[in-house]
Amino acid sequence: MVAKILDGKAASVAWEAELAAKLGNMQAKPCIALVRVGEDPASVTYVKKKIEMCTRLGIVSQFVHLPQNTTQDELMARLEKLNTDPRIHAILVQVPLPDQIDAVAVQNAIAPLKDVDGFGPENMGLLLMGRPRLVAATPAGVMRLLKHYSLDVTGKNCVVVGRSNIVGKPLAQLLLNADATVTMAHSKTQNLAAVTKQADFLFSAVGKPGLITGAMVKKGAIVVDIGTSKNDEGKLAGDAQFESVKKRAAWLSPVPGGVGPMTIMSLMANTISAYELQNKRA
Ligand code: NAP
Repeated sequence: MVAKILDGKAASVAWEAELAAKLGNMQAKPCIALVRVGEDPASVTYVKKKIEMCTRLGIVSQFVHLPQNTTQDELMARLEKLNTDPRIHAILVQVPLPDQIDAVAVQNAIAPLKDVDGFGPENMGLLLMGRPRLVAATPAGVMRLLKHYSLDVTGKNCVVVGRSNIVGKPLAQLLLNADATVTMAHSKTQNLAAVTKQADFLFSAVGKPGLITGAMVKKGAIVVDIGTSKNDEGKLAGDAQFESVKKRAAWLSPVPGGVGPMTIMSLMANTISAYELQNKRA
């Protein structure tokens, strides 16, 4: 067996066309504030890419760049201004934040209807209750990738490796909401291979290149590799050992070119949703 590729680039192009059509029909354009504190190199790149995508789609972006030594109070005050500014529909604070900042407090301070990362307690709670509103971009992008390829998780054994608040937990919840039977694994899971081998759908969001080997994958499984880290050669790599997993799986998402392009489009979709939510209430 050689796995077919879950092509995130192709799926994101289709999604982009859909979003562009939607934006074309909107009288006013959504505006997202992208907040970056400091100079973390990865954050510089991520925020730049997000702004470029906004420009391409016709979403207005406002870049808020604060110095590395910004205090918690200063950041909170800035967020409050963005929260109450009716011209801003969406707020994203790029992580990681400098050590002096409490990232959870920051996330909780973002107005729930502008919380396009979906990390705040209100949006997380709604997801937990099966009433998703603004959902974290990467898990939402994963679900969209599956939908693009008409891969249905209903009743299937889905294993999610990784339990972070930004990927693993919301993804598991989305899968549960979609009627999958969900198992979560993490660093304390005993005999990970025995768990992953049960998976009809295996999702890995860990950040350890090569963690998932072909031997850990059930024949014919669908493997979605969310991990992105640098391997020993300094190249971007997923969690799955691509060559060995490819021989066992029916479908496999590559890194790069899998979940990554879906994540950014998911943020764009959330920005449009945030605009719609606020205008519905007005
Ligand atoms: P994180 O907060 O570091 O969480 C990693 C998770 O992996 C934790 O739950 C941890 O378990 C678990 N883990 C660590 N070692 C493990 C092992 N040996 N076996 C099983 N589980 C293990 O990371 P994250 O923010 O969720 O991100 C995960 C990966 O996804 C990273 O590579 C990140 O770069 C990538 N990512 C990609 C995108 C994208 O758009 N493609 C977006 C977001 C994140 P414990 O909870 O027990 O510590």
